[in-house]
Amino acid sequence: MKLVKTYGRTRDTAAALMAELEQRGAVSTASVEKVVRGILADVRKNGDKAVARYAQQFDNLAPKASLLVTEEEMQAAWEATSPELREAMQTAQDNIRAFAEAQKPREWTNTFTEGVKTGQIVRPLGSVGCYVPGGRYPLPSTLLMTTTPARVAGVERIVVCSPKPAQETLAAAHLAGVTEFYRIGGAQAIAMMAYGTSTVARVDKIVGPGNLFVTAAKSIVSTETGIDMPAGPTEIVVTSETGDPAGIAADLVAQAEHDPETMAVLFTSNEALGRAVLAEVKLQSRSNKLAKQSLTARGAIFVTQSVTEAQELTNRLAPEHLSVDSARDLEWVENAGSVFVGPYAPQSMGDYISGPNHVLPTGRNGRVRGGLSVADFVKVITVQEYTRKGLATLGPKAILLAEAEGLKGHAESIRIKMKPIRRK
Ligand code: NAD
Repeated sequence: MKLVKTYGRTRDTAAALMAELEQRGAVSTASVEKVVRGILADVRKNGDKAVARYAQQFDNLAPKASLLVTEEEMQAAWEATSPELREAMQTAQDNIRAFAEAQKPREWTNTFTEGVKTGQIVRPLGSVGCYVPGGRYPLPSTLLMTTTPARVAGVERIVVCSPKPAQETLAAAHLAGVTEFYRIGGAQAIAMMAYGTSTVARVDKIVGPGNLFVTAAKSIVSTETGIDMPAGPTEIVVTSETGDPAGIAADLVAQAEHDPETMAVLFTSNEALGRAVLAEVKLQSRSNKLAKQSLTARGAIFVTQSVTEAQELTNRLAPEHLSVDSARDLEWVENAGSVFVGPYAPQSMGDYISGPNHVLPTGRNGRVRGGLSVADFVKVITVQEYTRKGLATLGPKAILLAEAEGLKGHAESIRIKMKPIRRK
């Protein structure tokens, strides 16, 4: 991890480093695109056979093993899980559910012009595919984070795909009430859910994080299937003036162990704090190889000239996770996936149990959206209803607008409906 001042002799170095971090993409999938397109085309053409072949090749699936995990297997995994872990999963699910309920888009109607009622109705998607990574670590937390808001939204068919599912992942699936779980991962899982096969029906939308192969596949199939967002390697920013160096360093090290590509940054105008965090990071990452690797590659402490500069730089990076000193800081936060307030809110709590989703936008997508939410699993359908009086009020103006565009048929359709109705 390096420490640079945004002023004085290191000014240009800091600006160059900032520009490099700002240019990061959610994930650069170019290196795997050819392979992924090949897998997608193969699954589209050869269906289940191709899926099984790739599962055997990449995830050591036994040749005769079924891709579908039975409900009995999920139940057995739940029963084999310790009561303590079961209770922790249950608490996590309760909090994710309560948060999703509160986030659910509401239906409403309003009359902004007399005789013209406008509003929206909310309907769940028919089917979704939840991708739960399983390559490096089993992620039962991601299973709960993706399936729970889908269920709150009212989605009828929820499909889960995860390679080499661990007992904990299967136990979480049982808790979540999953009935359609396939032990496959990577681009072949995305292809199966997007295109369908002779045994598995396609889904309307695919959500969830994953590695380069998964992310590339999601972006390619997005022309015909809905997807949530590119959710790539983790990013953490801490913006602090008064924080505890050990606590700040602990957050930086924890997120850095997710992936060698993790971005971990501290912005502060308090140089003494910056130097203390640097020392703590060194100490705490001593025996954590993966964290050390990513902190060396993309770990930085920026000592800024002012508090305002630290805040501006934070918004420019639009990080996936952001930690700040107090609730007063929320006033200046413009771009971030999820915000952690105060010294008692480790970012890892958000990974598991607080309730807000841990599937979050990376690669500066925090400028345009927040994390996965129940809103990703519904359609907000708008509705408009006119009385004759309402049409008489707005109709002539709409006719002018239609004629200005040269769309005579549009204008005429309004004129005709403005005349008295003659039913036969
Ligand atoms: P994964 O399940 O995403 O990928 C495993 C699959 O990759 C395998 O099933 C295989 O099919 C495929 N694969 C591996 N090598 C291949 C090859 N050479 N050719 C073709 N396919 C191949 O699991 P993972 O690898 O552990 O990655 C999980 C990722 O998810 C990490 O990058 C992690 O940071 C990220 N993540 C992001 C968030 C977020 O919200 N942003 C949350 C959790 C995890």
